[in-house]
Amino acid sequence: MRVWFPVGANDRRGSAPGQPMSGGPARITTPTRSAPAVREADHLMPLWPPLAPTVRLKEREAALTTVHAEIGACRACEQAGYLACARPLAHTRGPAGARVMLIGQAPGRLTIERGIMFGGPSGDTLERWLQQAGFAPGALRREVYLSALTRCDPGRSAKGRGDRKPSPAEVALCRPWLERELAQVRPAVILLVGGMAIEAFLGRVKLEEAVGSVAERDGVTLIPLPHPSGVSRWLNDPAHQRLLARGLARLAQMRVAWEAHDQAPR
Ligand code: SF4
Repeated sequence: MRVWFPVGANDRRGSAPGQPMSGGPARITTPTRSAPAVREADHLMPLWPPLAPTVRLKEREAALTTVHAEIGACRACEQAGYLACARPLAHTRGPAGARVMLIGQAPGRLTIERGIMFGGPSGDTLERWLQQAGFAPGALRREVYLSALTRCDPGRSAKGRGDRKPSPAEVALCRPWLERELAQVRPAVILLVGGMAIEAFLGRVKLEEAVGSVAERDGVTLIPLPHPSGVSRWLNDPAHQRLLARGLARLAQMRVAWEAHDQAPR
């Protein structure tokens, strides 16, 4: 089954160097179940067609080093009054030529303290999910480019459970960093971790409609996953665990195809 997903504001794309190429609306394909309903989706994150891992690698690494230096110096949310103290997580990402990019919500306290993306228990869960998709142990930090919608710890939720979700204003202020990373990494697959990351790329869709489905836009495969936080109870439902397994199975298919491609005689 295919669903053509509206692209909305993402159609600002042009043909200038460094700009994403224009393309059709996203296509959601669901090999094993019904796809999410089509919804209006404005301000979707732009995508760039995938680049082979070795193409312009030095140039891309250098550009990302610059981006991360600028992220580390960013105080935009503090200056705007959204954060008491901006302390961005930078210089922890993954290879510029990664085929898989993983985008989460925002770093939590432990991640900031340890100075590595997904430095808390969520990282262990993500590593386990990758292994479920057939990746070798350690793949999360060795093979995957790690990023997030925002780079500073938003603090605790006012309700007392888990981390506060960054506000739309904070996400908007931080968005240029992620766009610049997307323009350099140009992955084949993006793992969207949690509802906020899914919404940023696919528009509003229920988690149980998104997880287990696969979206495609501009040659990039978008695989929605639930948030790996231990606070989330979503995965307590066995039906939701099955949806997660379907998403990871799609990732496994793509991994197998890359390996076959890489090992084919030239
Ligand atoms: S969350 Fe992003 S935009 Fe806001 S201060 Fe941190 S790095 Fe800057």
